[in-house]
Amino acid sequence: MAELSIVLEEAGAAGAPLLMMVVSPAICGTVIARFGTEEQKRAWLPGLADGSKTMAFGITEPDAGSNSHRITTTATRTEEGWVLNGRKVFVSGVDIADATLIVGRTSDARTGSLKPCLFIVPRDAPGFGRRHIEMELAANEKQFELTLDDVHLPAEALVGDEDAGLLQLFAGLNPERIMTAAFAIGMGRYALARAVTYAKDRQVWKSPIGAHQAIAHPLAQAHIELELARLMMAKAAALYDAGDDMGAGEAANMAKYAAAEACVKAVDTSVHTLGGNGLTKEFGLARLITAARVARIAPVSREMILNFVSHQTLGLPKSY
Ligand SMILES: Cc1cc2nc3c(=O)[nH]c(=O)nc-3n(C[C@H](O)[C@H](O)[C@H](O)COP(=O)(O)OP(=O)(O)OC[C@H]3O[C@@H](n4cnc5c(N)ncnc54)[C@H](O)[C@@H]3O)c2cc1C
Repeated sequence: MAELSIVLEEAGAAGAPLLMMVVSPAICGTVIARFGTEEQKRAWLPGLADGSKTMAFGITEPDAGSNSHRITTTATRTEEGWVLNGRKVFVSGVDIADATLIVGRTSDARTGSLKPCLFIVPRDAPGFGRRHIEMELAANEKQFELTLDDVHLPAEALVGDEDAGLLQLFAGLNPERIMTAAFAIGMGRYALARAVTYAKDRQVWKSPIGAHQAIAHPLAQAHIELELARLMMAKAAALYDAGDDMGAGEAANMAKYAAAEACVKAVDTSVHTLGGNGLTKEFGLARLITAARVARIAPVSREMILNFVSHQTLGLPKSY
């Protein structure tokens, strides 16, 4: 994880929008590696690791965004396996991924209550529809609304234990947060490097604009905040590598929060440093404004991380 996070940070630092690289290995690869059958591991892990195969991940629904306990996509047992029905929204890269890991709910025979379960749905499965959502976002992959209308799957499509509930899913969330943090830090570093180069060169009075503290201090501040976020990301990756899931959970959330905030600030400061050029296509910084905001919203919003730290770390009471 520590090494992978450095690779993704470099990808972000090169200005590459790589959401699928975050989702596919971090969530899907982790869940299959930990809970998949030997056959699923053989079929997916080498490809997810070297990038020759990709898997999208679908949990968000129109009425279940921040609150994933509210998902209503159902998975019902049939003689051959499973049938899925429901809707997902904002799922990234479904058109280019070989399959999507869909979070559905199965009915508990004893209690009748619904439990979350994970299913590998191939891209072209009959009944698996997708509609491209037009986003104001410069990224390589697109977001989709998905419809699952009587999608029949074989028994082997289920990943992990039917009764494990959200626990299996949570295993994939820590690496995804660490990877998102790495990517956001990389993006922030990329923007900052471009702004620093510009500030050393651009002269409109007797010295370059970088000599004015009104320009230099926000750049220095952005650098410090990116470095602090980087430290927390390294801590989260080290805890994850050491097998401390509890510690990694807290650190991964904090790293993702710090990285997203540092990235948004670094991009905003960088755009401002370039003046009018900050908004030109030629300098390519303005497109990062929306890209940086994504890290604040997905895969978990800034507020849900603050909720997590309020309740889990500080022990404060819950309002929802
Ligand atoms: C570019 C992009 C790519 C995405 N890719 C995927 C993907 O591949 N797969 C997938 O499943 N999903 C994906 N998502 C969805 C993403 O995970 C959700 O947008 C995110 O979890 C927030 O859910 P929501 O949009 O429904 O917002 P809502 O849950 O409606 O929240 C709206 C606002 O209210 C705040 N809020 C909600 N509840 C609380 C609370 N209790 N306390 C304080 N504030 C609260 C939120 O923080 C947010 O600011 C993607 C989203 C984007 C933008």
